[in-house]
Amino acid sequence: MAKILNGRALSRQLNKAIKGRVAEELKRPPGLAVVLVGEDPASEVYVKRKGIVAERLGFRHQQINLPADTSQSALIEVVEGLNDDPDVDGILVQFPLPDGFDQNEVMDRIAFEKDVDGFSVGSTGLLAQGRPNMVSCTPRGVMKLIELSEISLSGLDACVVGRSNIVGRPMAMLLEQANCTVTICHSRTRDLEAIVRRSDIVVAAVGVPRMIQGEWIKEGAVVIDVGVNRLEDGSLCGDVDFDTASERASAITPVPGGVGPMTIAMLMDNTFHSAKARQA
Ligand code: NDP
Repeated sequence: MAKILNGRALSRQLNKAIKGRVAEELKRPPGLAVVLVGEDPASEVYVKRKGIVAERLGFRHQQINLPADTSQSALIEVVEGLNDDPDVDGILVQFPLPDGFDQNEVMDRIAFEKDVDGFSVGSTGLLAQGRPNMVSCTPRGVMKLIELSEISLSGLDACVVGRSNIVGRPMAMLLEQANCTVTICHSRTRDLEAIVRRSDIVVAAVGVPRMIQGEWIKEGAVVIDVGVNRLEDGSLCGDVDFDTASERASAITPVPGGVGPMTIAMLMDNTFHSAKARQA
């Protein structure tokens, strides 16, 4: 049976360490501003969780709720106000935005030094060149989870299923920079099963419940499940069939309790570092 990579427990340790560093190293607490547009229930849950952790760590946290019919220009105005606010170190606009918004423009208007989600062209460009600054929280959380679990990546064949700008692409870049040989899979990939079967590490970031079957997993592989899918009975599951995959994998993340809490810990860490840089 696979070792369960307990992101919840590891994130608690990380958050505790950040709280200590806030008290010791900063003149004032880090300021995190979270903007939520509309009333998407999943986004509301994510934003609430981020706020709870931020407050627990002693951050100054503000949440700005805007109605779904807010105009693009009004949202940009809010972002620019936060860019100019000296008490705000990190700005997060919760994605996806409701239909009709130009998400890329919003991303581009967040000040580079406050881009704690790491989605901006500047942050992504630096990552692509192998000199990361602010790295997207979910892929960074996956790397931290692997590092703290003492899994050695160098030379492994990795496959990342999903190529979004916020998860799959930066994930693939980080694995390549950790000396994996990376295959990126997506909806047009011809034989996903064959690629998964030969991979020493599989990262699934798709959004389709249990689409990666346990029998596809190579004996002893590391399986990281980023997917969060809500089933009809209200329960959550990942993109990997956990029960069967854990019989073959050497290590696997659960959903929930794997990558999700690590993502939030990395948001806190990015915000801490932004505050530290701005107070230097
Ligand atoms: P996107 O919808 O932006 O991207 C999904 C990717 O999966 C696309 O690249 C798509 O390919 C690919 N895909 C879709 N269907 C298939 C298929 N049948 N076979 C292979 N690839 C497929 O999603 P995100 O990257 O934003 O999120 C992915 C998942 O991760 C979601 O479940 C989301 O909820 C979760 N998530 C979890 C986080 C956490 O903290 N735990 C944080 C962020 C996301 P194509 O490009 O060809 O369309």
